Amino acid sequence: MTTRGKLAAGNWKMNGQGSDLQQIETLRAALDRGEHGECGVLICPPATLLERMARLGGENLALGGQDCHAAQSGAHTGDISAPMLADAGASHVIVGHSERRGDHDEQDADIRAKAEAAHGAGLTAIVCIGETLEEREAGRTLDTLCAQLAGSLPDGASAANTVVAYEPIWAIGTGKVPQGAQIAEVHDRLRSELETRFGEDGAGIRLLYGGSVKASNAAEIFAIDNVDGALVGGASLKADDFLGIIAAL
Ligand code: PGA
Repeated sequence: MTTRGKLAAGNWKMNGQGSDLQQIETLRAALDRGEHGECGVLICPPATLLERMARLGGENLALGGQDCHAAQSGAHTGDISAPMLADAGASHVIVGHSERRGDHDEQDADIRAKAEAAHGAGLTAIVCIGETLEEREAGRTLDTLCAQLAGSLPDGASAANTVVAYEPIWAIGTGKVPQGAQIAEVHDRLRSELETRFGEDGAGIRLLYGGSVKASNAAEIFAIDNVDGALVGGASLKADDFLGIIAAL
């Protein structure tokens, strides 16, 4: 049987300035005391904070970017490449978050190219997929997610370089969380899709749930089969809230 380590990943989105490094100090101190147990802990801050956070150090705290360009360098004003994120201290990068898909019209093929760029730079890609409320209500959840998964993951995806995050769009920042059975249905299906395509490696790719995860609902979500951790937005901004989630893993 494949053992997958748990992962608590925080996505700060477009939040956080230098003063918020205090949150990282608090988090890092707790992790240095071993409060995360066996669980991996990752923060994806805005790119402006990445290098300063990396300088604070902390071997128990990994850092990630929130997006990367598919190209390594060049004339792409405002963008950041995967090698640049690695250079700033990141080991991971989120690609295909629904806010990127929505705000920047990113399609599965774009996300696949970004994940490939991440792999090329030695980063672990956290590839996000998720259905809209409309798709769920029309009974198209699994079809939508399977198509996103197939289109967004490059052929070179493996347990070592890829994490998949299931984030129902209607659950992000809304306080609404799917029922346990709904999360289980999706994660079981995603697991079997990954195993079919990637074999043993697919069995090792971690599947995170994201969308309104808080300390108060984390234990219930993490008890679901095939949930290997969480991608957390709002509740990752304060160290104490995030530590509450980590404690449930
Ligand atoms: P949330 O965001 O935890 O604030 O719902 C999750 C995400 O968008 O990754």
